[in-house]
Amino acid sequence: MRRLTEVAPGVLVATSAYAMTTSTVIVGSAGGCLLIDPAVTVADLAALADELAARGLRPAAGWSTHPHWDHVLWSAGLGNAPRYAAPAAVTAAETDRNGILDEVTKSAPGHDLDLVGRLQARDGSAISWDGPEARLIVHDGHAPGHGAVFLPDSGVLIAGDMCSDLEIPLLDTTAADPLGDYRTGLERLGSVPGVRQVIPGHGHVGDAGELRRRLGLDTAYLDAVSAGRPYDDPRLTADSPKWMREMHEDLVRYFQG
Ligand SMILES: [Zn+2]
Repeated sequence: MRRLTEVAPGVLVATSAYAMTTSTVIVGSAGGCLLIDPAVTVADLAALADELAARGLRPAAGWSTHPHWDHVLWSAGLGNAPRYAAPAAVTAAETDRNGILDEVTKSAPGHDLDLVGRLQARDGSAISWDGPEARLIVHDGHAPGHGAVFLPDSGVLIAGDMCSDLEIPLLDTTAADPLGDYRTGLERLGSVPGVRQVIPGHGHVGDAGELRRRLGLDTAYLDAVSAGRPYDDPRLTADSPKWMREMHEDLVRYFQG
């Protein structure tokens, strides 16, 4: 894990070598911080806990953007702050608990499984905590109850697994309307006023122009694939990870279905 990097005043990002997964730290009052999607390996979380301690910070609350294994992790070293997610995400994490634990065991072994996915449902328009306002943008694109977080004071959007410069749109094809859900998610993220920086769950932090570019790429990709047209997405190349090319092929087949 690279060291925590300050992307805006009081907003720090750590990026794991595993799938360029980001963890975001928002500095609050009296040494407390809001920790979003701590990830991924046991060593990553240990390094994150050490760095927070070295900076005099301790998690006052956690937020999981969505109920996928690499976004619902935690470690004893991070303390016992309450961890929140949108209601639909909590339900999905509980329903699919065994699948999530299997993936953790397979992909990032050694975590205390008892701490995985221990989330409390939080409804409403913002995370209530002792720190900068953290507005929620909840939708069902990519996963049920996908809760992005927007910090109006700094203009930072923590997008979860949307708006990546490395990953194509990954739809939740088990949902009733995967395409509609994803488009709704893109619309909601695209209509947040005042975004100056976007932090994707996997990939690089981008500015407002880069957010527009990614939203445009995602829309073009979905338009083409859903219409059965070929589309040359710059994020999808022969060098892309095998799982991503397979997700793309699955989606092509889904729309041919
Ligand atoms: Zn995900």
